[in-house]
Amino acid sequence: MQGQSKPKPRILTTLAELRVARRAMPGLVGVVPTMGFLHEGHASLMRRARTECATVVATNFVNPAQFGPREDFSRYPRDMDADTRLCEREGVDYVYAPSVDTVYPSGFATTVDVAGVSARWEGEYRPGHFHGVATVVAKLLIATGANRAYFGEKDFQQLQVVRRLAIDLDLPVEIVACPTVREADGLARSSRNVYLTDDDRRRALSISQALFAARDACKAGERRAAKLGESVRSLVTDAGLAIDYVAVVDRDTLEPIEVFDRAGRILIAARVGSTRLIDNIGLEC
Ligand code: AMP
Repeated sequence: MQGQSKPKPRILTTLAELRVARRAMPGLVGVVPTMGFLHEGHASLMRRARTECATVVATNFVNPAQFGPREDFSRYPRDMDADTRLCEREGVDYVYAPSVDTVYPSGFATTVDVAGVSARWEGEYRPGHFHGVATVVAKLLIATGANRAYFGEKDFQQLQVVRRLAIDLDLPVEIVACPTVREADGLARSSRNVYLTDDDRRRALSISQALFAARDACKAGERRAAKLGESVRSLVTDAGLAIDYVAVVDRDTLEPIEVFDRAGRILIAARVGSTRLIDNIGLEC
């Protein structure tokens, strides 16, 4: 009915509360794991979950274990009230927002290490990052008992790590990949975009522009990965960004490829000012 407000999501903060709530959740349960400071990218995952599941649980937890010692854990943006409003708008039923002590109580000693697909790219530039991601995602999938879990292609390597861990740990959950949501000008939506000054923001646009140009070149017949990688590298470097990596890879293994004879992906991580951004694009040449 028009004008009728949606029910507010129930906020759960302890494992005991989550367990009691889980037993009463009807039908398929979809989970959307997030670190909060929610934007349209997160909302798109919630919307997809809403269309496919009887119950939608969003998790909101800034996971210290996936930040390196010199990374932005303490300054990572947080706004629980705005997050709750977004979840309400998207018809989320439950928000699980545990404390650090709830997720990592004293004596916690287990790490989930997904070999292979974690090793390169983000794994190389952010040592330990995927241990933190895999450990918390495994815990959240188990704790929520979700039937489906929604992840963004924005974090493409993370998506492949999560797929692998769900298979390897026999988790009865389907991992659903959702396309990257971008600003009107192409910049991938990210909670970290709030760090960007106006000048950073203009320069950061070179990332998506370079990826789109590479995709177009591929469509126009360029099959050499090195050429496509070089063009991305030079456009982004010319805009004044410092590149961590530009990788032209097989979509599934994330191993570098030389020639496009199958579906590939270009992954990029680059720093503008004090902000590190990642993005990627599919190449179906
Ligand atoms: P985060 O809160 O950044 O850890 O992201 C939580 C989930 O939202 C992850 O599955 C991300 O891949 C996904 N996500 C973040 N940004 C976007 C975006 N721009 N488009 C689609 N999914 C996104």
